[in-house]
Amino acid sequence: MHVVVLPGDGIGPEITTATSQVLRAASEQFQLGLVLDEHAVGHASLARFGTTVRPDLLGLVKAADGLILGPTATFDFKDEARGEINPSRHFRKSLDLFANIRPARTYPGRTNRVGDFDLVVVRENTEGFYADRNMEEGNAELRVTPDVVISMRRITRPCCERIAEVACQLAMKRRKHLTIVHKANVLRMGDGMFLDICKATASRYPELAVDEVLVDAAMAHVVREPGRFDVLVTTNMFGDILSDLTAELSGSLGLGGALNMGADHAMAQAAHGSAPDIAGRGIANPVSLILSAALLLDWHGTRTRQPRFVSAAAAIEAAVADAIGQGQSTQDIGGSLGTAEAAAAITARLQA
Ligand code: ATP
Ligand code: MG
Repeated sequence: MHVVVLPGDGIGPEITTATSQVLRAASEQFQLGLVLDEHAVGHASLARFGTTVRPDLLGLVKAADGLILGPTATFDFKDEARGEINPSRHFRKSLDLFANIRPARTYPGRTNRVGDFDLVVVRENTEGFYADRNMEEGNAELRVTPDVVISMRRITRPCCERIAEVACQLAMKRRKHLTIVHKANVLRMGDGMFLDICKATASRYPELAVDEVLVDAAMAHVVREPGRFDVLVTTNMFGDILSDLTAELSGSLGLGGALNMGADHAMAQAAHGSAPDIAGRGIANPVSLILSAALLLDWHGTRTRQPRFVSAAAAIEAAVADAIGQGQSTQDIGGSLGTAEAAAAITARLQA
């Protein structure tokens, strides 16, 4: 498996180094033949090549079997004409990575206030209120007068169908429980269509238990009793908010792995940002990106019918859970290890 690795900004280089170490160990244990092809992106690339994303990177990524993108400091990339392209947006858009898969769970051995849970938020990644990602005009907001702005949300049948399909398939691999999160009582046409399509899609999976919940109630239920959820599917902005909530409930943003997937490509990307406040200090939690990489291996294994990749992904997740359960973790979740030591603890469990 050929993987392009783009370390990114802030804590990006630290957590990608840690992730590569874990992947190499997994590759050896499970004979994955992993080739990690590292290139600069973000500020490192801007300094060397005058652009945050070199034009040849997209071709390399398309030819590879997967992409790992570290966090990038997007807030100061404003001028695309000057090469300040937002790498995350660039790859999501160019590769049509329409599904954002964000698992969140608690770990045995760690106390938490909300009870144990293990769920996945499946977020539509290409439309909704973020329609500027798709709209030709490049803008989903309109200033009608100096005092009035209209924000447009685009919901389309094909995008609902493909995200619903991904969510159903994922739920079938897990505890077979799908929850549709929406606001169809207010957004009657858009979320109404999203809800109808999700239900119709799910009806083709008779083994699935399907329920629906309004997004506001969903937030309350997730805080009160997250253990009752398995897979939650929702539109773009609701998914953005919901998945930050579930990541934080699991203990730290540093535990939030995520996969952006499309029909032919997938990109592993931590749910958090570049964390400039702790960059360069060797204390960032690498688990988010390690779990993201495990999702990528699972995706590749499933797609190409190579069970050893699926097994390797499960082994990485188990190693992470075991290390965390035994307190072998970074400070953000109450441990005392640095980034490299936390990765070494996971690697050692993979090799055991
Ligand atoms: P960006 O603009 O790139 O999103 P940010 O300043 O919003 O940067 P985030 O990366 O979103 O920072 O992080 C928010 C908070 O969570 C920060 O205090 C950061 O230190 C912490 N944090 C994020 N990721 C991790 C991690 N992997 N390990 C430990 N702490 C983290
Ligand atoms: Mg942030």
